[in-house]
Amino acid sequence: MSMIVQANPGAGYRALKAEIDDAVARALSSGWYILGNELRAFEAEFAAWLGVPAVIGCGNGTDAIALALRGLGIGAGSTVVTVSHTAVATVAAIEMIGATPLLIDIDPVHYTMDPDALRRVLEEPPPGVPPIRAVLPVHLYGQPADLDRIVPLCRQHKVALIEDCAQAHGARLHGQRVGTFGDAATFSFYPTKNLGALGDGGAVAVSDPDLATRIAALRQYGWHKHYISDEVGVNSRLDEVQAAILRVKLPYLDRQNARRATIAAAYTEALASTPLAAPAQRDGASHVFHLYVTRSRERDRFQAVLKAAGIGTGIHYPMPVHLQPAYAGRVALGPAGCAETEAAAREVLSLPLYPELTDAEVETVCAALKTLLRDN
Ligand SMILES: *Cc1c(COP(=O)(O)O)cnc(C)c1O
Repeated sequence: MSMIVQANPGAGYRALKAEIDDAVARALSSGWYILGNELRAFEAEFAAWLGVPAVIGCGNGTDAIALALRGLGIGAGSTVVTVSHTAVATVAAIEMIGATPLLIDIDPVHYTMDPDALRRVLEEPPPGVPPIRAVLPVHLYGQPADLDRIVPLCRQHKVALIEDCAQAHGARLHGQRVGTFGDAATFSFYPTKNLGALGDGGAVAVSDPDLATRIAALRQYGWHKHYISDEVGVNSRLDEVQAAILRVKLPYLDRQNARRATIAAAYTEALASTPLAAPAQRDGASHVFHLYVTRSRERDRFQAVLKAAGIGTGIHYPMPVHLQPAYAGRVALGPAGCAETEAAAREVLSLPLYPELTDAEVETVCAALKTLLRDN
């Protein structure tokens, strides 16, 4: 019996192989491999799809966060508030530019930044950290964070808002796409993301044209003009081959997100009779199910049972950032701590979810959820 895997970027390639192969051949034949027509076209197409004036491609989603922060003038001497329940990249990017991360807890129902914890640190910043200059909520698993409360808090306290959209390409809140609510938004095109390249890639979306110009310079040594650095930049470019691949995949993204939602709905129905809790959807939000994350105190046992039935699962994430060896004991935490984050890390379990899962495979997973979990 072949295993049903949790994510499958190879299936995403095979589904569009002829079109992707043509696009790669076109990019290779062009003789121009970095910052050329494919990237310019992708940046314009992604900006139009998202509904923002400007998109700047870069090397990966981690660099996108770092470039957005630097573009907004944030660096050493600034604190950036984010969550500990995220891909470590979110926090790594803050430290890359010399800023101080301040990690706060999540709302245990939606797994995104707890606005009450945010309000508390904005009203009373913990002693010993530099001034808070930015807030970086993560639309984790494809679910919009609570922007209804986070946006006004950022405005009131005059701090920048950067949305980490690495898991949420296409998610909406009250009909508006995430990535259009803040001062900047960052995307990853890592192969397993909802819009994935076949290698590394990332982008920053902004509405201020001056900010766009600055970030475009920062991604290439701080050049506004060739070979002249007006400020110190980095090298983080989205190459022509990846841009050509992303141009093929972008027109399929909304359909693929709809397929993810259909599979998610089938799982939610199957889970109704089981001790494994289905994920909640925020009111007014459309979730794009980068991951379908269930929850149980008996997570480890259920994971083993599913594995024995040929169903691969994942844990996103097994250890909060503030407990990881590289960060433990030195990264700043909000005064309320991160108890919900720590509980989630012990209990979450991600089921197989990618658009190319067949109806038969989805049915196999649903049947396993119903019978195995009831009987074990
Ligand atoms: C994937 C991811 C990133 C980083 O993206 P890379 O392209 O791997 O650098 C950042 N934040 C979140 C929430 C992610 O899931």
